[in-house]
Formats: sequence, structure tokens, C-alpha cells
Amino acid sequence: MATAAKKKTASKPAAKKKSGSKFDTGAFEARLTPIQKVETWGMNHFSESHVFQPESVEDFKSLFAYANATGAKIAFRGGGCSYGDAATNVKGIVVDIRNFNKILSFNPKTGILVAQSGVTIKQLWEFGIEKGFWPPVVSGTMFPTLGGALSMNIHGKNNFAVGPIGDHIQEFTFISPEGKEFVCSPTKNSDIFYSAISGFGMLGAFLTVTIKLKKIYAGKMKVWPVNTSNLQEMYDYFEKEYKHSDYLVGWVDSFASGKGLGRGQIHKAVHLKEGEDPGFPENCKVENQILPNTLLGVIPKAWMWIFMYPFSNNLGMRFVNLGKWISGFIGNNKPYLQGHAEYAFLLDYVPNWKFMYKPGAMIQYQSFIPKENAVKGFEEILSLCQKRGIVNWLAVFKKHRPDKFLLTHAVDGYSMAMDFPVTKRNKEKLWDLAKEMDEIVLKNGGRFYFAKDSTLRPEIYRRSMPKQNLDKFKAMKKKLDPKNILESDLFRRVWGK
Ligand SMILES: Cc1cc2nc3c(=O)[nH]c(=O)nc-3n(C[C@H](O)[C@H](O)[C@H](O)COP(=O)(O)OP(=O)(O)OC[C@H]3O[C@@H](n4cnc5c(N)ncnc54)[C@H](O)[C@@H]3O)c2cc1C
Repeated sequence: MATAAKKKTASKPAAKKKSGSKFDTGAFEARLTPIQKVETWGMNHFSESHVFQPESVEDFKSLFAYANATGAKIAFRGGGCSYGDAATNVKGIVVDIRNFNKILSFNPKTGILVAQSGVTIKQLWEFGIEKGFWPPVVSGTMFPTLGGALSMNIHGKNNFAVGPIGDHIQEFTFISPEGKEFVCSPTKNSDIFYSAISGFGMLGAFLTVTIKLKKIYAGKMKVWPVNTSNLQEMYDYFEKEYKHSDYLVGWVDSFASGKGLGRGQIHKAVHLKEGEDPGFPENCKVENQILPNTLLGVIPKAWMWIFMYPFSNNLGMRFVNLGKWISGFIGNNKPYLQGHAEYAFLLDYVPNWKFMYKPGAMIQYQSFIPKENAVKGFEEILSLCQKRGIVNWLAVFKKHRPDKFLLTHAVDGYSMAMDFPVTKRNKEKLWDLAKEMDEIVLKNGGRFYFAKDSTLRPEIYRRSMPKQNLDKFKAMKKKLDPKNILESDLFRRVWGK
């Protein structure tokens, strides 16, 4: 696995075969890997788990038959891009779905695509762009799978306009831990549809996914970089511009204080209309979208994080943030054309940038606050971090809209995603800070996001969500997974098991 380091040899799971079961557990166990280190994206936690890699629907059936026969606990894993412990499992098997990755059909008239759930966002955009289509919602990295994206119901920089990925799913097929298969859509088995999307992999497995890609008429978008002096100014820009934007994202310099608290830079992007892009369709070719392989034509991408390493401390990051903000005045408010992939996946431009945090690790703390309270809530959070002497190195501001999914993280408001370094020395202090930030989020009516979380506690999660949603989810879990076969480390941490 990409993030699963060192393989160890170990005996297969010691789970006992229940008497009376006809399932050949030994044959299944022969397909499990030896115990591997399976790490969270932020490198802050890992499990040592056997890994199973299904390649067919039959394999998912065997997996659940095995779990029912032995009582093994299972957690699914897509690209492993969740920052925290959503896809690790210290008590059982990790199911890596990346080999279940075929695009099954595509209709070029409608943009409707059917794919297995291990297909990645990278596969989707590379498949679609030359045909004039782009995924309707993408995350800041292209490596998540459809299964992972649906489980967390990911949002993009266009969440305020088009909602989360779940809003673009026409149908999916699904298998529950009891081995029952369902076809789900907003009208068929809609209770499963609205709870499995956002259900962090705890109700069953997505098998195939039907998603509608969006039509594009250009390989590039028009992008405006806009420097802002504080958070209120950033918020005002978002509120003024969102109706005229396809994408909006704000970078925040978390080291700035006083009148500059929350200053940063916004990137607004707008699609070009048919006929507006002289480079079309040539610039839609995958090779013309791919992020350059070198920085300044010299430094290989894979080495870039090494050049950033000397700055990976609080002082260095204060300068990097300041430098970025000041350099933002060059070209401020002057639009330019940028390729879709370059705009959407800026973070992928520097492979392994997270290694900057080594020998420590990182966590992301992303909270969502309703718009009425967003500026004061996030200002309080930024000030608190500075007061506690733990300032995040990268912060990103986005606008959201509510959606109908059961465990949705979205609110009619804003989110701030903050990347914190984790070291042996700061860990306890950082977790204490997270507890204080949680209270600020809660008093402002906010929510949290499982895809990013590493610190949330059961009582805080309960207080952040409507009780009826949690009750419905629990009922659904009991119905689809009565033996609690599906359990990730996140599930045990946040649901208090
Ligand atoms: C650099 C970076 C930028 C990011 N930017 C964004 C962003 O802009 N917006 C956003 O919303 N998120 C963002 N994310 C988070 C990421 O999109 C989510 O964590 C997403 O869920 C990752 O998908 P994955 O395939 O890697 O799944 P994993 O992280 O491996 O797993 C996520 C969940 O999906 C479940 N799962 C996986 N496959 C299946 C399946 N077939 N059936 C049932 N359950 C399954 C797992 O059990 C787990 O609970 C970002 C992450 C990174 C590292």
C-alpha cells in the first residue's frame, strides 16, 4: 500500500471459525497479506493489520462471509487520503479497494459514468477531460477513490455552488455486511443512499458508482488571485463574489495577528464558455493538464519537499506565509488562465510535501461554522492558536452549503482547514488546543469532518450533530451491520466503542 510501510511476516488472524459455518476460512486467509503497517495520511497513527484487496464483487461477498464466520472486524480503505484514522483498523483487517478500479461505461452525450468504487478522481478526470468532461466535485488531491469520496461525501472549492459529491451520484450498488446487495439512488433505497454517502464506510461497501460528470468547453479556467488584509475582508469577498464564481478558495496566513488576523489570498475561478478558449481542445489533452515535472524547469518534483524542509519550523513557516502574502500583491486581482488540474490539485504539485513534517507528523483540524458566526468563530480560533503558541502552517478557507446526507459535515457557512505539525513535545498541548477549539466551534453552531479528524471525542461529536440524525444512523447501522463487523479506528474513537 502506498502508505503502508514495512511488511512483517505474521500468522493470519486468530479469529475463530464459528461452528456450523460452511465458509472455507482458510482459503480466504491465504489471500490476506502478512501484517503490514497501515498509516494515516497525516502519519500520526497507524494500525498493524492484515490487508485484503478485493478485485470483484465475489471478493466482497467472500470478505463478509469470512467476517460473519469468524467475527473479524473490517475497515475499508481507498486511497488512504483521510488525514486521521478513518481507514486504519488496529482490531482487524483493512480492505484496500484500489484494485477494484474499472471504469465500466460512459455516455458522452450525458456525461454519465459508471465505475467500480476503487476508481480514483485521477482516473476520472484523465478519462473525462479529452471528451470534454470534468468531475463535478474534486478534493484538493486527485488520489481519493470514489468509495472513499462517497463515504466522507467530499466537497470541493465549489461546494457553495454545487454541493458535495453525493449530490452528483445518480445511483450506486452496495453490499451490506450480511452479504445483501442493494441498488440505491435518491429514489430507490433512499434511506441507504442518504446514510451510506457520509457514513464513513460503517454501513457496507460501495461496489459500483454512477456519477454525472460536468461538461466543460475549455482546458483552462479564468482565475483571479485576490489579496485580503484580514478574515472579514476575505469573508466579504466570498459573499460578494460567490454568485459569480465557479470555484472560490482562500489561503489564510495564520501567523498574522492584530488588524491582519486572518489575512490571506483568495483564488476565484470561472469556467470559460463555449468558444472562449482559443487553445481548446488541444489544452484538454491529459499531457497538457499534467502538473509540470520540475520546479523552474530544474528541480524534480519529487525533491521539492527536501528544499522546503529547512522552513519546516515555526519561524520558517512564519516567513513562508508572510512571503506568500507579500508576493500576492504582484499580479493582485489580475486574471490569468490556468488548467483545471493545476487549479484543483495544487497540493499534488509537490509530491510527499507532508514529509516536511517528519520526523514528526501532521493533523488537520477542519471545522465548519454557520455564516453568521464564521468570522468571529474563526478569528477566535486563530487568536487562540497564537495565544497557545501552536500556529498551523497552512490554513484554507471555503464556503459551503447544507445538504441532505445524514452525517453531513456541511453547514450554510464556512470552513477553515488548518494543518498542524505534531511532535512528541507538542502533542499533548495540541490535543488540549483542539479541545478548546472544539468548544468555540460548538458555541458557534459548527460541525466537524471525519475525513480530516484526529482529535474528536464522542461527546463533542454528539453535541455537534442533530440527535435525530445520530439516532437514524445508529438504527441503520443496526439494520445493515447488526454484528458490528465494520469498525475503523475512527469509529471506535468517535462512537465511543
Ligand atoms: C492533500 C489532501 C487534500 C484534501 N482535500 C480535500 C477537499 O478539498 N475536500 C474534501 O472533502 N476532502 C479532502 N481531502 C480528504 C479526502 O478527500 C477524503 O479523506 C476522502 O475520503 C479520501 O478518499 P480515499 O479513497 O483516500 O479514502 P480513505 O481515506 O482510504 O477512506 C475514507 C473512508 O472511506 C471508506 N471507504 C473507502 N472505500 C470504501 C468503499 N468501497 N465502500 C465503503 N467505504 C469505503 C473508508 O472505510 C473510510 O471510512 C483531502 C485529503 C488530502 C490528503
